[in-house]
Amino acid sequence: METRQNIVTPGADGGATVLVVGGGGRCHAIVDALSRSPRVSRIYCAPGNAGIAAQAECVPISDTDVAALKEFALAKAVDLTVVGPEAALAAGIVDEFRSCGLRIFGHSAEATRIESSKEFAKRLMSRYGIPTASYRSFSDFTEALSYVRSRPFPAVLKYDGLAAGKGVVIASDSAEAEQALRMMLLDGEFGKGRVVVEDYLTGPEFSFMCFVDGDRVYPMPLSQDHKRAFDADKGPNTGGMGAYTGLPFISDEDREFAFREIMCRTAEAMVKEGCPLSGVLYGGLMKTPDGIKVIEFNARFGDPETEVVLPLLESDIFEVFDDIARGVPCPALRWKKAYTLGVVLASKGYPGHYDKGAEICGLDTVSDKTRVYHMGTALRDGSVVTAGGRVLMVVSEGRTVVEAHDRAYSELGGIRCDNLFHRNDIGHWALEAGVGRVIDGNAISLSVKESVRSRVAEAEKAFGRKPCLAVIIVGNNPASRVYVRNKVKATAFTGMDSRLVELPEDVAESALLEVIDTLNRDPLVDGILVQLPLPAHIDESRVIFAIDKSKDVDGFHILNVGSLWLGTHCIKPCTPKGIIHLIKSTGTEIAGRLAVVVGRSNIVGKPVAKLLLDENATVVIAHSRTRDLASLTRQADILVVAVGKEAVVTADMIKPGAVVIDVGMNRNSEGRLVGDVDFHASSMKASWITPVPGGVGPMTIAMLMENTLECFMRREEGKAGDVL
Ligand code: NDP
Repeated sequence: METRQNIVTPGADGGATVLVVGGGGRCHAIVDALSRSPRVSRIYCAPGNAGIAAQAECVPISDTDVAALKEFALAKAVDLTVVGPEAALAAGIVDEFRSCGLRIFGHSAEATRIESSKEFAKRLMSRYGIPTASYRSFSDFTEALSYVRSRPFPAVLKYDGLAAGKGVVIASDSAEAEQALRMMLLDGEFGKGRVVVEDYLTGPEFSFMCFVDGDRVYPMPLSQDHKRAFDADKGPNTGGMGAYTGLPFISDEDREFAFREIMCRTAEAMVKEGCPLSGVLYGGLMKTPDGIKVIEFNARFGDPETEVVLPLLESDIFEVFDDIARGVPCPALRWKKAYTLGVVLASKGYPGHYDKGAEICGLDTVSDKTRVYHMGTALRDGSVVTAGGRVLMVVSEGRTVVEAHDRAYSELGGIRCDNLFHRNDIGHWALEAGVGRVIDGNAISLSVKESVRSRVAEAEKAFGRKPCLAVIIVGNNPASRVYVRNKVKATAFTGMDSRLVELPEDVAESALLEVIDTLNRDPLVDGILVQLPLPAHIDESRVIFAIDKSKDVDGFHILNVGSLWLGTHCIKPCTPKGIIHLIKSTGTEIAGRLAVVVGRSNIVGKPVAKLLLDENATVVIAHSRTRDLASLTRQADILVVAVGKEAVVTADMIKPGAVVIDVGMNRNSEGRLVGDVDFHASSMKASWITPVPGGVGPMTIAMLMENTLECFMRREEGKAGDVL
């Protein structure tokens, strides 16, 4: 094997010069990812497009003009070339560049046969036991037709060669098959060749792209594109009208199978065949009733899948390309824990005849969670105009597919052009699965606080004073300080008064009790809250007991707790009350459902279980001694987790469609605030889930405001009762 190491050294300024070959949305996504690399100082793109021009210097050389590209790379001392489209690979660009010492990311022409020759790919799969539809290949028209007629329809007919995405026909009857075979074998539409006839498989298709270097395989997130032009998968086939990551119908086991048994095995097979891969292997896979099977392989990044996958890459893509081009191992790839969804804006008429040159406005209106990749645009007198069938792809990121979907569709509304259309149902597989909706605790708590604010204004008019919350903090615990600050801020937001009492860490318990006693007797104080935890020398239960029951806005006083369990009137504790509110906000029926609460603390687990019981749920409380926690959580329609340990609940412990409330607040090893539930994977199973932060936390504060107003009203109305 030729040596691929250290052929070219990076540019003198320390940053590398990179040439990207191609010009569509896929290349824009590659250029965009490269532009995030601190190791890259200059990017050329040949030929590029109007969008790429903002991130790279576009060079007017066709992507198949290997000689001109080579000359350019040598003249500009390009350190690394990255090849986008398959035509350039099949034209032998990689072999040509390597032969003159240029470093290039992409497969040799021989290895590219995995895409360019359907027969080669099918033979490889059958020789190495890689699951795919059974097949026969023919060069003779009559033989092919009689074989097809002897088999059940529909039949899959694949032209054995590059046919720009048009070389596959699904023939539903003998007449359609004859017409397609005639085109492929007799009319010479794509040149002289062979036809592979395959059994027709059914099931959802998805794309699995991996970076491959020999038998080293580095997986990318799975994605799915939408090939048909119109909504509900109607209309003619296109290059792809949109794509998304986060596939609800693929389990972890499916993914593992596809990785080991298909992608890794194929890479190993190519090594054994003497044509190792070095670039991207794209598996077009299908989840059939008999397991996952290969529909086709491509030898390069998919389009539009690349546009939704690469924005999730946290590793430096230059290093990945460079390591693979040099044939050295890459460090494990890091991917963002998020999902993406992209919608293609295409010229009206595409994939048939369409006009070019329509002006596009509003391209700069998108947020930093959205990217607009240019697929077919050009610059005319300083304006961006349409210049292709597929014109733009709007790709948004979200914590779930649903969030990415909503963001992409809302942001593409800002892009204006008279001659574009798009599908309205990209990601419908994920949306129909009914999973992944995020319970937005910030938004729900805001509406609660706004309602409290208007009631406070009315109460002030009626009683001539505002409700007042007294907050006591002992010591300097930074987390407690943040909570206290937020609580005081919320009182200001809702129009209430607050009194902040700050006491030193070493304050005597008796001094704290005296402060509480004074506040208990103060007629202008309606609620008293002592921020927990307290220093070890203070008895928390004695402190809580000292608060007047009618001013106990946290609902922790023993008389409130007792009333809660007896079902008599009481102040309900804030976090459990907020949890019920969040569950109800989803429209979920609680009565009669199985609710599992993990954690049995007095401030969360037990009271939330009681409140769920009051809503007529069937309730199970689990804790650290529970044997086989997963078998319980998997039965839960409603799952509340209040443990205080990261990822106690993982996706495999969640019943599909469950409502998941994550109360936990933990700092992970990177210092980020995370919950008790593995949100990223679990959101693909749960119908609704709370994020951390932004779920239960804000609701606790909103409920505190409600409780303070309630205490105020009870006191004021009680006074009115006295008078009466
Ligand atoms: P506690 O430590 O008082 O209780 C934790 C509970 O989890 C215990 O009942 C314990 O069981 C159980 N537990 C521990 N490990 C496991 C395990 N491996 N499997 C099953 N159960 C387990 O915690 P809190 O209830 O006070 O708080 C829990 C989390 O909620 C914390 O992260 C806290 O920060 C957060 N929180 C968030 C609030 C908000 O407003 N967002 C408000 C209050 C809390 P056992 O009883 O057997 O020991």
